Amino acid sequence: MNLRDWNTPIYPHRMTTPTLAQRLAKLGIGTWAELGTLVPRTYQDRSSLPPIIRLPDDGPAVITGRIMVVNDDMSKHRVHLLKVTVADHTGPIDVVFFNQAYLKPILKIGLEVVITGKLERNPYTHIKQLLATELDVIRSVKDREQLLGCIVPIYPLTAGLYQSKIRSLIQYALDTMVPHVPDFLPPSIRERLNIMPLSMAIHTIHRPNTMEAPVHARMRLVFDEFLRYQLSLLKRRHEFKRLPTPCLLTPQSDLHDRYIQQLPYTLTNAQWQSIYDIQRDVTSGIAMNRLIQGDVGSGKTDVIVMAILMAISAGYSAVLMAPTDVLASQHYHKLSHALSAIGVDTVLLKGSLKTKAKRDTLTRLKSPQPVVAIGTHSLIQDPVDIHQVGLVVIDEQHRFGVQQRIRLAQKGNTPHCLYTTATPIPRTFMLTIYGELEKSIISEMPPGRIPATTIRMRMSQLDEVISIMSERLQQGQQVYVVYPLIEASSKLDLASAIEGHADIQSRLPQHQVGLLHGKLPVADKDRIMSQFKQGEMGVLVSTTVIEVGVDVPNATMMVIMNAERFGLSQLHQLRGRIGRGVLQSTCILVADRLSDISKKRLDAMVHTNNGFELAELDLKLRGPGEVLGVRQSGLPQFRVADLVKDEPLLVLARKVGIKMIETDPTLQHPSFVALREWVDSADYVSESGHLN
Ligand code: ADP
Ligand code: MG
Repeated sequence: MNLRDWNTPIYPHRMTTPTLAQRLAKLGIGTWAELGTLVPRTYQDRSSLPPIIRLPDDGPAVITGRIMVVNDDMSKHRVHLLKVTVADHTGPIDVVFFNQAYLKPILKIGLEVVITGKLERNPYTHIKQLLATELDVIRSVKDREQLLGCIVPIYPLTAGLYQSKIRSLIQYALDTMVPHVPDFLPPSIRERLNIMPLSMAIHTIHRPNTMEAPVHARMRLVFDEFLRYQLSLLKRRHEFKRLPTPCLLTPQSDLHDRYIQQLPYTLTNAQWQSIYDIQRDVTSGIAMNRLIQGDVGSGKTDVIVMAILMAISAGYSAVLMAPTDVLASQHYHKLSHALSAIGVDTVLLKGSLKTKAKRDTLTRLKSPQPVVAIGTHSLIQDPVDIHQVGLVVIDEQHRFGVQQRIRLAQKGNTPHCLYTTATPIPRTFMLTIYGELEKSIISEMPPGRIPATTIRMRMSQLDEVISIMSERLQQGQQVYVVYPLIEASSKLDLASAIEGHADIQSRLPQHQVGLLHGKLPVADKDRIMSQFKQGEMGVLVSTTVIEVGVDVPNATMMVIMNAERFGLSQLHQLRGRIGRGVLQSTCILVADRLSDISKKRLDAMVHTNNGFELAELDLKLRGPGEVLGVRQSGLPQFRVADLVKDEPLLVLARKVGIKMIETDPTLQHPSFVALREWVDSADYVSESGHLN
């Protein structure tokens, strides 16, 4: 048998029907290989079942015997009840099936069965009975071998699909295919890693000798899934890496020095390290594909500017994309100010530009004079024609979908790409969705920062919150008040921000309280933001539009309303807006009615400022799908593996993958034939759009 047969669709085949194939598809099974690697939900140890007479009075039990009596079904209150008596050589017991009418034609007198369920006393007669949950029928010697005197796998099911059906299909696969399944891991690697041969692992998963045996066998399957994914990422990264580009961003002027000289501070070592990494990439002749990861406030903007200046001084334009209007405007104001001083042109691209102004902007972009174009998604949604783009920067990339990321990378003639993120990316994600990027980490904060103090309060303590705010305002400091806006379209959330704004303004009549939310026209957002920045406004009430990147060092307090409704990473992002200057900042989380999980989240916020720890905890509390959203994150859905629990295997698979690709980038070695075929047959694209 070769790998292709093992990867054959389960239908057409004499063992299956279209209906069965549909049901199996619901369990993610489309091929024999996927059936073979269906990991049981649990196992039942039936190696020595007690005879009926020795069953305990209550608790879970498995019995075996023959059906002696079948009672007519008695249906009361729409509950369907089927009662049989089963006996072995020690005596009988009553068995009750609730709402399993489909079993009626099967349960015949004389039939030999194995029934799983829960023992209890009949509430009326007080006679011991078994409340059945699962039924196995023994019709042959083979059935008996599989179902009794051994450890029996219990598979996940869907409507219309029974244990017996899955069992017989798996038995068929074990008999005819599994012994011949080719192992795509060469023995040398398996032995070094102490990993089971594939056919042995599959066999053990379904026919374990001990209750512990499946654990080791499952590891093999998990490792395979991770390795396959890592190899496709790494192969792709290898191709990415080798994507030659004519853009050599070798500086032709002293723009960099002039930019640094006008900064009121010196760059940190960590910032310099990232800048060097970038410089190495953009002068190599191979397109850069680098992610800069640094906690909020670590100074990523200056790293971006230095990268942009590499492009400009080499005669290329640069594009900077931000996730929100507010952030794009802020970047524009900051950069145009700093860059015009050194003779570099900056333009802001936004949807709201009046046609004439827009036309002028577009004309400017086409001219051969290098330019820095700043904008939001609109930059990719209706692509603008920019002359000679040498660099594309995506700031706060976690806010963009992965697909957008890729589309952008493909725009133009292979520009260098730089991504930044402040969302500390848990290691698991680093090894998966970000696997094809090079990384630089800004591991150090600018000196003199004092971490914000975080406290939790209740809505009933609002007066107290207001009086703390008022103190800060008196000292000339500024305050953010944030309301959740979970759904962009949620009218209710918006209403609470608007109401909150009115309430706070009335409690602080002598101060200017502004309101910022996503529904405002861009011009209004800009005006409000700049008023707050200038200090004309003491308090800014806002929805989460301020979440990323906004930089107002004089803001030293943040009140987060309904804090329980925010994710942990989001809370950390929000809090990153304060603690940016040299004054002690305070973050107040206002929350009532906490679930266990939200309590854990808020407690974590109170106890640590470390974004990395928080991200790891977020992943544990919510699971990977929730944290980034499976769809948008581009994470594949693993069938066996669990990204959180199996992380050590992910790390191992990554290591092994890197080594393979380093020595044999396209897996050409004869011992990798099966492996290569298997990796190439992976279809991550259809699930996520990620790999294309
Ligand atoms: P982020 O990494 O969150 O994008 P920013 O680039 O917005 O951070 O920087 C946060 C603040 O720190 C800004 O006010 C910026 O001027 C300041 N800053 C950046 N680098 C340094 C540095 N090396 N020393 C002191 N302040 C710095
Ligand atoms: Mg930033």
